[in-house]
Amino acid sequence: MPHTQDEISRRLAPPLLCWYRENRRLLPFRVDPTPYGVWVSEIMLQQTRVAAALEHYRRFMAELPTIAALAECDEQRLLKLWEGLGYYSRARNLQKAARVVMEQHGGQLPADYQALRALPGIGDYTAGAIGSICFGLTVPAVDGNVLRVFSRLYDDSSDITRPAARRTCADRVLACMPPDAPGDFNQALMELGALVCLPGAAVRCAECPAAAFCRAKASGRAALLPVKAAPKARRVQPVTVLLVKNGAGEYLLQQRGETGLLAGLWQPFLCERALDADGAARLLRKAGLRARYTGPGPLAKHLFSHIEWQMHGLCFEAEGEAPAGCVWAGRAALDETYPLPGAFCAYRTYMAAQS
Ligand code: SF4
Repeated sequence: MPHTQDEISRRLAPPLLCWYRENRRLLPFRVDPTPYGVWVSEIMLQQTRVAAALEHYRRFMAELPTIAALAECDEQRLLKLWEGLGYYSRARNLQKAARVVMEQHGGQLPADYQALRALPGIGDYTAGAIGSICFGLTVPAVDGNVLRVFSRLYDDSSDITRPAARRTCADRVLACMPPDAPGDFNQALMELGALVCLPGAAVRCAECPAAAFCRAKASGRAALLPVKAAPKARRVQPVTVLLVKNGAGEYLLQQRGETGLLAGLWQPFLCERALDADGAARLLRKAGLRARYTGPGPLAKHLFSHIEWQMHGLCFEAEGEAPAGCVWAGRAALDETYPLPGAFCAYRTYMAAQS
């Protein structure tokens, strides 16, 4: 007989919390958590692995240790601190929310789910994480890990990309949540998903504190869950990256427009279509530069949620004033001043090595 919903709700919390207290990773935002630190970490960890976010988190908190400092930070500096994490709207929303917190909440994150939820960039998950971890609110925090754990605990084949499945999961989390430890319970679920209830066949049921009453473990379907609709195919976009160097060894960087993909960030001079060396030279002439083609540059690919950029580099030497919206940048400026998104990682490495 599969275990009933009531039975799972009743049995989950005690062994899970014990397991969590013995096995949790000592991450910097878990040690003596502050609302601001939890907020920044939760926003960083959306779409980013823990290991990749840790160094960014330390640098960010060292430079912007308070909500007031975040609210006042120059936007380009903020984007530089976010460089490499992707999804830069997260950083902009953090700052917008920090300004609202300064103006409307006296510089402190509000201890109220709806007020948290109303801040820019804070959705159900982040409001649940901050509310439960920092303020002891009994609210769920459902991320991808928790969706996977609960799909399996209940042997539920609902498509987890659908809002109804997320709502059902949130209701189930709430039914299992001990009122005296909501923050630890939410974190324990996320940690279980990150360390034990791993995707696909990597799942480690033998180490799981919920194995005795997990329905998918009993049915042998754990590796098949959760069910998730396939994402739409990405549109392939050819991109020509012009690596243009001047006599001082500086490279031409161009700021992207204020809206759209990678808004406001910097890139090598580029054209979002396929160009050969002659076409690229004409483009540079039109921009007011005398340029000489010196050879091909790196090939690279970058996946956005809906587009795949297939990039090829063309190298030039050029003289002249930087065109409007562009700058000549040497190694120090590349490292410290201009935020270049991870999409240009291969080109950044190339420019740093050549400048
Ligand atoms: S028993 Fe296995 S499938 Fe069930 S929650 Fe634990 S790790 Fe996941």
